[in-house]
Amino acid sequence: MALNKKLYHQLQQELSPKGVTLVAVSKLKSVEEILEMYNEGQRDFGENYVQELVDKQSKLPADIRWHFIGHLQTNKVKFIAPIVHLIHSVDSLKLLKEINKQANKCGRIINCLLQIHVAKEETKFGLNENELSELLIQVRESASNYQSVFIQGLMGMGSFSDNEQEVRSEFKLLKTMFDQFKTYEMPNCRFSTLSMGMSGDYKWGIEEGSNMVRIGSLLFGARS
Ligand SMILES: *Cc1c(COP(=O)(O)O)cnc(C)c1O
Repeated sequence: MALNKKLYHQLQQELSPKGVTLVAVSKLKSVEEILEMYNEGQRDFGENYVQELVDKQSKLPADIRWHFIGHLQTNKVKFIAPIVHLIHSVDSLKLLKEINKQANKCGRIINCLLQIHVAKEETKFGLNENELSELLIQVRESASNYQSVFIQGLMGMGSFSDNEQEVRSEFKLLKTMFDQFKTYEMPNCRFSTLSMGMSGDYKWGIEEGSNMVRIGSLLFGARS
């Protein structure tokens, strides 16, 4: 399917005045499709699978900002550490430690979001409110062990549902946590990014306070 350029520019015109960053989710889409969108001006792309991100990064322009949005296994962090721009899916201290270790090896500081579980579905990964608070306390208490990561906010997925009130209430909860921890003072953590909203619910996400949306199928068409 060819890229719908008109739709892409309409979406950017809707988002940019609001200060919302568009991450174009290109998982399972070809290098050619990504390049087409790149040529329209898009620079932020999101991928869910490590090998796919590594492959595409090697074939596409170097100024693309690659966002990792899928579930990340600790043993695969090393492959994306040299090239990733922002990891949205940090859901444990163990993973954060490994990102720190690999970032340090590359001489980089890797930006991270903590993934929060707000949806009803059991299968969605992420921390709950207590786990979030515990993780941040641990990082604060041993900040010297996390000098190669920077925690810049939160990511969450709403339930896969067209029940607007339900999804909005999940987003509201996420925004409340974001605001609560925004005041945390740490050398390697300062919340500025709330990644919330996908093709089906990004409008609700933005109205509930998101400033980064992850949009795939709306832009690229359905994934097979
Ligand atoms: C696939 C995916 C998206 C994009 O989903 P669409 O419904 O195609 O917009 C966003 N976020 C995450 C975490 C995803 O896995």
